[in-house]
Amino acid sequence: MAVVKANAYGHGLGPVAKALVGHAEMFGVATVGEAEELRSHVPDAPIFILGPALPDERLPVVTGCFIPAISTVEEARAYAALTGAKPLPVHLLIDTGMGRVGILQDDAVATAREILSLRGLTVTGLASHLPVADEDDAFTREQLAQFHQVVGQLRSLGISQPVVHVENSAGIISYPTQAGDMVRAGLMIYGSSPVPEFQPKLRAVMTWKTRVTLVREMPAGHGISYGRTFITPRPMRIATLGVGYADGYQRHLSNRSADVLIGGQRCPVLGRVTMDQILADVSALPQVTAGDEAVLIGSQGGEEISAAELAQKSGTIPWEIFTGVGRRVERAYHG
Ligand SMILES: *Cc1c(COP(=O)(O)O)cnc(C)c1O
Repeated sequence: MAVVKANAYGHGLGPVAKALVGHAEMFGVATVGEAEELRSHVPDAPIFILGPALPDERLPVVTGCFIPAISTVEEARAYAALTGAKPLPVHLLIDTGMGRVGILQDDAVATAREILSLRGLTVTGLASHLPVADEDDAFTREQLAQFHQVVGQLRSLGISQPVVHVENSAGIISYPTQAGDMVRAGLMIYGSSPVPEFQPKLRAVMTWKTRVTLVREMPAGHGISYGRTFITPRPMRIATLGVGYADGYQRHLSNRSADVLIGGQRCPVLGRVTMDQILADVSALPQVTAGDEAVLIGSQGGEEISAAELAQKSGTIPWEIFTGVGRRVERAYHG
């Protein structure tokens, strides 16, 4: 399953989904709204909805032929009441430790029995989710073992040939033999690894660039940006760049030793990130002029800035960096 929720992790739903047709057997989105948008791009692909639909979204799930994830008997009953002659394929979610959605593991057999007695549904999948696949090996091993044991019990209730799926990117990388029948790959299909040692095997999909809008020679002792948190210690050549926190360049990158790439070199970001503009030290680059490209994520010359680097410097995770790239940032697609 290619997970393309949140506008394909900020990369753009339509182009990403179309590029993955024939590579992924199923697409995963978070909401019914996302499923409907995705349907217009990939009319024939199975679409799985990772999160619960609201009560008033259940009819659109049925009419849209999306595959819902079921956590409760109440949801199952409501879907069963909405289906016509043809039973609706659904996947049962088992909460084996994530604590977000799903049937609690200890209730799985009893609840599944009730759901299986409903006419109008057919259980075609069994799933769970890993909360600490990149953080707690012992917990994850135990969780995977217990999930597969519950799956065995549910199979014996008569759920024949379910598609079993439990692994996100971190799970896929670290526990490849425990995957079941399908994996739900998100972050890694965009070329970013949640496990740093695995990163060399992936190539980043997104390059995020902006441009130099001004270059100015600043005297010593001049405050740079809001708060005057950076005062030029000497005369400096400073570039103004057309990106800010409204574009997803995190304000938390202010004064956190973040760099941008200009002319193939790392240039420190100075002072606070503002809504629409940032400032970078280009004192070492006399040739830089307005219109030059500045790379925020990606490579230029021999240098590279990864989403993981920005995430680490701003105190967040690459998922949030990607999904934060704003609407104002124009997407261009190659290949
Ligand atoms: C978002 C999501 C994924 C994908 O996770 P990655 O870490 O990005 O690979 C998989 N499963 C579920 C249930 C999710 O919500």
